[in-house]
Amino acid sequence: MAQYDYDLFVIGGGSGGVRASRMAAAAGARVALAEEYRMGGTCVIRGCIPKKLFVYASNFSEDFHSALGYGWSVGETRFDWPTLIANKDKEIARLEGLYRRNVEAAGVTIFGDRAVFEDEHTLLLLNEGRRVTAGTILIATGNSPTREMGTSHIVPGGDLCITSNEAFHLERFPERILIAGGGYIALEFAHIFHGLGAKVSLVYRGEKPLRGFDDDLRDAVMDSMKRRELDVLLGCEFTKVERRGSCLHAETNKGGVVECDQIMLAIGRQPNTASLHVEKAGVRLGKRGEVVVDEYSKTSAANVYAIGDVTDRLQLTPVAIHEAMCFVKTVFDRTPTAPDHEHVPSAVFTTPEIATVGLSEQKALMLGHAVDVYKSTFRPLKHTMTGSEERSLFKLVVDAKTGTVLGCHIFGWGAAEIVQMAAVVMKMGAKKADFDATVALHPTAAEELVTMRVKSYSKEATS
Ligand code: NDP
Repeated sequence: MAQYDYDLFVIGGGSGGVRASRMAAAAGARVALAEEYRMGGTCVIRGCIPKKLFVYASNFSEDFHSALGYGWSVGETRFDWPTLIANKDKEIARLEGLYRRNVEAAGVTIFGDRAVFEDEHTLLLLNEGRRVTAGTILIATGNSPTREMGTSHIVPGGDLCITSNEAFHLERFPERILIAGGGYIALEFAHIFHGLGAKVSLVYRGEKPLRGFDDDLRDAVMDSMKRRELDVLLGCEFTKVERRGSCLHAETNKGGVVECDQIMLAIGRQPNTASLHVEKAGVRLGKRGEVVVDEYSKTSAANVYAIGDVTDRLQLTPVAIHEAMCFVKTVFDRTPTAPDHEHVPSAVFTTPEIATVGLSEQKALMLGHAVDVYKSTFRPLKHTMTGSEERSLFKLVVDAKTGTVLGCHIFGWGAAEIVQMAAVVMKMGAKKADFDATVALHPTAAEELVTMRVKSYSKEATS
């Protein structure tokens, strides 16, 4: 008789947990998974997928306008928020069903329950009140939006604000919305609500949103937001939020009061470890509540692993999936495989979008690279007939000594699709000479990547 009920018990049915459970089952392990909410996790239920559907919805307003330049009269347009929500919900339910069926088809037992640790091999399923044991336990509980504006700075009335979780289910479309933050979620939702017709104000505490991204990308987004008349309040933080009648009033450190229908906090996400009782398994948590793991995603308990957002490494779905596959190789294929967090591409789905892979110019210099920079800004062909002043930016950061492409940064339509492929060649160690030797595909925006022959400037390393 087996020593434990399962070889692997996965806590969390998001991107990482689902992939790990399916692969471990395919490798012959007896696997169970607990998910207390809906299968699919943040990405499918209240993140990447519904967000991208909202982005598509928000893009139509500009498309209708652009159509005029090409001879189309679109006529009167009207946006219906309940229709978008209902259709999005239908699609998400379909995807959730698909996730569930795939996991079950792999032979994994799913518990619609909350699992908490009793010891390093035992979990308690809270609803059923049942104990289960497993040889290996995988924590893949993800993270959720934080509402805390810093311990020294808990805003009175902050509980009146929504987060991205609620933004996907608002009954009424917010005609005026304030969005706090300057990261992925704040910028994406600012553009979504703006495109859908809301009056949006972005409230960011720093000098320029998207800290950590290449400075040219940050400038390009700022310019684009100005052009779109999206209100950006910099160096700005809420000091108080209160409800007055049907409106919310936000006081800021700038002294003003802004009246709006909704206030959304997009000020980061915190790992979902509260009340998991990981301490009972000897699993150490970091300062932010993240599960501390080694290079193989192993926690401080020998048989407990953690992957995805709960580990607070790179909070991206494909990274969680990659970590899941490495975990299964390490534990069930007995081939120790550390996840590779280099050259991970990512995109911020603003309108148009930002996509990036590799080092920003600033990071490359800091890491000791002397760099050659190739930059091109231009009006996309499509907009030569729409009247839009939108400009695209393409930028390559190249190691001056070796010619290796260190970073590829794009702001413009299709940026994410282009950067996915750039990531492949950069992973292969492509040099600028390889880009130069590639024949362009014309007429595209992507051809800029292989036609930027003249260096824009060079810089010496700063360290
Ligand atoms: P981010 O970490 O991207 O951004 C958080 C923002 O909130 C920063 O601008 C930060 O400012 C600001 N902030 C943090 N604390 C405070 C505070 N106390 N008061 C005011 N502002 C504050 O977090 P997000 O919530 O936008 O997204 C979380 C993660 O989810 C991302 O890092 C990303 O990895 C992932 N994600 C990926 C997406 C994609 O791939 N398209 C889409 C959405 C999310 P400062 O810069 O000054 O620190």
